[in-house]
Amino acid sequence: MILFRQAASLHFYLEKQRTNRNLIGFIPTMGALHAGHESLITAAKENSDITVCSIFINPTQFNNAVDFEKYPVTISEDILKLESIDCDVLFLPSVNEIYPNGTTATTHYDLDYTELVLEGKYRPGHFQGVCQVVHRLLEIVQPHKLFLGQKDYQQSLIIKKLIAQLQMQINAIICPTLREKGGLAMSSRNLRLSLPQLQNAAAIYEALTRIQNGLATGLPQQLEEHATEYLLQHGFDKVDYVSITDAKTLLPVTQWNGNDPLVILAAAFIGEVRLIDNFFVDTTPLAAHSQPILN
Ligand code: AMP
Repeated sequence: MILFRQAASLHFYLEKQRTNRNLIGFIPTMGALHAGHESLITAAKENSDITVCSIFINPTQFNNAVDFEKYPVTISEDILKLESIDCDVLFLPSVNEIYPNGTTATTHYDLDYTELVLEGKYRPGHFQGVCQVVHRLLEIVQPHKLFLGQKDYQQSLIIKKLIAQLQMQINAIICPTLREKGGLAMSSRNLRLSLPQLQNAAAIYEALTRIQNGLATGLPQQLEEHATEYLLQHGFDKVDYVSITDAKTLLPVTQWNGNDPLVILAAAFIGEVRLIDNFFVDTTPLAAHSQPILN
């Protein structure tokens, strides 16, 4: 694996790869890598010639200073993991390398209502920060394919929108969420949970499962309320949202027709750690529970 810290040298290296007609697959991450990240790298390796992973904890997407300060950092372990799965390139930039003009002189992106609902409502400015870093990384790497996790469903939709707005020829591929045995979605933030908290955290998966099982007969609003109650009774301290939405628009669904693809999303705190998860619900014959949307 080749490690680059400077944007210009990575860009120069990848320019040569493109000239040699190598397909570049890219996986942006914030590190503290787990099997979920590794699955994206494996998907990239299977679908491209050169796999580039970046690790950068992006300050502009954190609206909570404590969350930023306590975000897990495990660079040495991350490098070993990446080498063990044969990742070709790691980009490990400094803040200056990503934001040469500082973190305040940044572009504003027109994301309409999608940046104001769900995560956007509870993390104001978060998606502007996501777009700032992703735009810069995409300009540096110029990948043919971008591998994203369904775990961050709203983020994936917003990045697709960004790519379309920038008119970049990048195929964004959304990969399924990897889970622990009890169903808890793998997340770098899980490292901040104590053992009892970790056991309780699986309730978010249970709550989503309950909604999914109730969809055929229950009203969405009631299912959301019951799921919120369930989380509060099973170790979660605060629920930001549990929401049944249209999978394309992320608008709330008040009455489901049984056909349109849905996504059920939840965000809730255990102590000061905020976890998110979602299920994709598609009733078309080949679709299965929590499956990826590939394009
Ligand atoms: P992060 O390091 O949290 O910014 O995540 C980097 C990428 O990995 C994003 O596209 C995430 O959606 C994806 N990701 C995070 N957790 C998982 C998971 N459990 N399974 C699959 N992909 C994931």
